[in-house]
Amino acid sequence: MPKATTKKPIESPTDLSPKMELVKRRVLFVSSEVVPYAKTGGLADVVGSLPQALMKLGCEVAVVLPKYKVISPEKYKLKLEIRGLTVPMGMGEMTADIYSTRLGDTHGTVYFIQNDRYFDRDGFYGTAEGDYHDNAERFAFFSRAVLEMVKAINWYPEVLHLNDWQSGLVAVYLKTLYKDIKPYNNMKTLFSIHNMAYQGLFPKYVLPMTGIGWEEFRHEKLEFYDQVNYLKAGLVYSDALNTVSERYAQEIQTEEYGHGLQGVLGDREADLYGIVNGIDYNEWNPATDKEIPAQYTVKNHEKKVESKQKLLLDQNLRFNSQTPVIGLISRLTDQKGLDLVAEIIADFLDLDVQFVVLGTGDPKYHVLLEGLKEKYSSKLAVSLKFDNRLAKLIYAGSDMFLMPSRFEPCGLGQMIAMKYGTIPLVRKTGGLADTVENLSLDGKKGTGFVFENYKGADLLFTIKRGVEAFHQPKLWSDLVERAMKEDFSWDASARKYLELYGKLLKKQ
Ligand code: ADP
Repeated sequence: MPKATTKKPIESPTDLSPKMELVKRRVLFVSSEVVPYAKTGGLADVVGSLPQALMKLGCEVAVVLPKYKVISPEKYKLKLEIRGLTVPMGMGEMTADIYSTRLGDTHGTVYFIQNDRYFDRDGFYGTAEGDYHDNAERFAFFSRAVLEMVKAINWYPEVLHLNDWQSGLVAVYLKTLYKDIKPYNNMKTLFSIHNMAYQGLFPKYVLPMTGIGWEEFRHEKLEFYDQVNYLKAGLVYSDALNTVSERYAQEIQTEEYGHGLQGVLGDREADLYGIVNGIDYNEWNPATDKEIPAQYTVKNHEKKVESKQKLLLDQNLRFNSQTPVIGLISRLTDQKGLDLVAEIIADFLDLDVQFVVLGTGDPKYHVLLEGLKEKYSSKLAVSLKFDNRLAKLIYAGSDMFLMPSRFEPCGLGQMIAMKYGTIPLVRKTGGLADTVENLSLDGKKGTGFVFENYKGADLLFTIKRGVEAFHQPKLWSDLVERAMKEDFSWDASARKYLELYGKLLKKQ
């Protein structure tokens, strides 16, 4: 397989002239997670913000997700739109209730698909014991219900913007069961890949339940080693594909990053784009953040120290202005480089640093981190939970942010950290490579510390570079200012999506 760097660059619709008139589009986002209703990771942030950025450009946008148990009808003022919508499935008819609410402070709408048998559970995809046994059915139902819903509410989008495996079957239904039905046959699909590692892989006996015929169970369609693959379905049947950074679009065509689907992606290279995510500055902004003790901007970033003091106090660690605090907020998985962190953790914690960890994930990392707490009680704080408030305090109160991912479709943590003047330590992969520039040797350029080889020694060396730089006040202050000045707002990326929708709609 060719190396990612030898591939020709993936076309990105970047050459949008500012004078070009933007054609406003009607778009429905289909996603299993949306901030603020349901979040386990970056997908939720993206679908919470990108639709609003598109609305600011004049588009008509709606979003649809399952109505999970945690979504409080009172808190979000959900309004019943349709009761008992019929949703045909392979094994018979099911029903869905459709609720709606306002999308942020815009005029867009968020729709919720309720069916208690599928979604009235504590988790989104499973429990600590593993995935729910009926995920194939839950997300086939969701996908089919989305298509029935647009008819029932009589709002037909031009583009269905699908996200990850949970919505992959929408594309299959449109190209099969709905292909001759007006106006479904005019709708186009864009499939956004947020992570190739999660594929929605199920035994083939689920196929009749979906209502999709066996003629689609072929190698060049949705079959994958004699199983049904919902991510592959999205990749094969959608009209265009994109990843959430340019570099990841190249990487996933290689064996190292393709998770077995590199061939499928290679076949679709002409329709594959890379558009980097933004972050929502209404949510992530130290100038307005109410969760931190003192707000600050690039002009008075020395006030950041108040967040550091509060963070350390809350975490039972002693404050010392000369000791750098390194934060990590992440799913605790191998993808995020936790195996590298584990490999070097003793040498790392022998340095004069403090390490604050917030995350949940693989039980082996829970055990490891819990086990180190006693020995390194003055240096290590570990919170094994999902906590938005603590996350903000860590972003603001740390000096550096660790993200040594094995692969990273885009990554939001490094961009949020930079906005808070917290210097990222990252591996050069995917979106991390696209958004963090390594500090130059003379210290005058760059926004973080970047290493290339997935090796413990390289990570440790990079942390040491960070600690050394931290002790040079002028260099550090300039670095913090450069990082804070980076622009990761959604506007530029939303324009690229709009241009891509345009290309898609011109396609026959
Ligand atoms: P991924 O989607 O692969 O998990 P991203 O970097 O794209 O990674 O997005 C992760 C998002 O989830 C960020 O907004 C990050 O702050 C947040 N996050 C991750 N773990 C936690 C946690 N334990 N508590 C609070 N927020 C978290």
